[in-house]
Amino acid sequence: MENALYIYNTLTRCKQPFKPLNAPHVGMYVCGPTVYGDAHLGHARPAITFDLVFRYLTHLGYKVRYVRNITDVGHLEHDADEGEDKIAKKARLENLEPMEVAQYYTNRYHQSMDKLNVLRPSIEPHASGHIIEQIAMVQKILDNGFAYIENGSVYFDIEKYNKEHPYGILSGRNFEELLNTTRDLNGQEEKHNPVDFALWKKAEPKHIMRWPSPWSDGFPGWHMECSAMGCKYLGEEFDIHGGGMDLMFPHHESEIAQSMAANGKQPVKYWMHNNMITINGQKMGKSLGNAMSLEDFFAGNHPLLEKAYAPMTIRFFILQAQYRSTLDFSNEALQAAEKGYARMMEACKAAKSIVPTEGAAEVGVQKIMGACYDAMNDDFNSPIVIANLFEAVRIVNTIKDGKMQINPAELELLNKLFQSFVFDILGLIDSDAADNSSDLVEGLMQTIIDIRKEARAKKDWATSDLIRDELAKYDIVLKDGKEGTTWSKK
Ligand code: ZN
Repeated sequence: MENALYIYNTLTRCKQPFKPLNAPHVGMYVCGPTVYGDAHLGHARPAITFDLVFRYLTHLGYKVRYVRNITDVGHLEHDADEGEDKIAKKARLENLEPMEVAQYYTNRYHQSMDKLNVLRPSIEPHASGHIIEQIAMVQKILDNGFAYIENGSVYFDIEKYNKEHPYGILSGRNFEELLNTTRDLNGQEEKHNPVDFALWKKAEPKHIMRWPSPWSDGFPGWHMECSAMGCKYLGEEFDIHGGGMDLMFPHHESEIAQSMAANGKQPVKYWMHNNMITINGQKMGKSLGNAMSLEDFFAGNHPLLEKAYAPMTIRFFILQAQYRSTLDFSNEALQAAEKGYARMMEACKAAKSIVPTEGAAEVGVQKIMGACYDAMNDDFNSPIVIANLFEAVRIVNTIKDGKMQINPAELELLNKLFQSFVFDILGLIDSDAADNSSDLVEGLMQTIIDIRKEARAKKDWATSDLIRDELAKYDIVLKDGKEGTTWSKK
């Protein structure tokens, strides 16, 4: 497939033309959430960034297999004093099955992402469901001589690996520099070298999330799941791997090393990283007391928020920055995004009811459309797309004010522009319309039921049957009862 899409590749540090390994198929892996807490603002940016990538590649005609994992085990962010997995800890304290905790937060994550209109991935594998694959990959790395076993745990031997393959190619760090900056932490004395990372950890007796392995009852190291599941669903080499910039080191760097050590191949052609979100200029984090969940945002439930912000305001706000730029959340910026989003939705609605004028002079819609594609092809430059769409908004408003006319062909193109870029690619939805749509369906169904009732009263069985058959095509069934007729989806 020929197109002019360029993607900034973190690995090569330049924009490169997008040439998938097996067009029109594209394999894309994005590091998903760790499900031990509510989705917060930090989750929204990668989710929306790679939703934009997924949507645009699909729009261009690619068949994208989008894999986004759920980290439900073995995360390295243990409580410093306990050394215990956070999911396991919560499960132990609240007497829950660990999978209950993971499922609870997975459901909450899905709910928040649905509100942001983030499409679900093609495959959403859980780390805990792929222990066998991870054990097999650890064994492969051991067989190839790039790992060692110490007291039931398996560690990646970075010094050994670095002699054959440079470690640090993604983040630009080198082994010597790492040695100088890595402190020897408590509980790491099993490692031959402080920079080595765990592929498999032997579980402490109190650890409840544990699996048997050839080395010990334990659990995989965090980096392992993405290497194993990426390889399982996308192959030893695939096109795009994405995630937040904070994952570049050590997570993605270690993924590259694990895959190279196991398979001898660079696993990923294009590495993509979204930049981080700051709040009022400060890095987000619990220590600052400014980590707020997405539900807090939607409800306006946080001392830093002046009001509630709709999910679409947050989506629009995130898309107003290119994904590689930093993004600072503030009430002023969010309120500006809220106004911009409303103005765009109004214009999209108004464009549908514009009456065209035969023979009217060109107003430049084609040029805007071209500029939108150029911006997307330039490493998914959504702010430039939005700036161009506001040019189209201005055209709509000028026509509405009676100061300009538009010919039928160009009006059609204008509506296509909004459909493609505002709704399909940027993934915005008209929140008002979505709120109204259920009322509309209910109203239409009541009308259909009334027509059927009238037909039956007149013994017009042909019309009555026609209505039933046509509704069946949409899996809608009618049920006649004492209180009248009700409808439901099969
Ligand atoms: Zn990952």
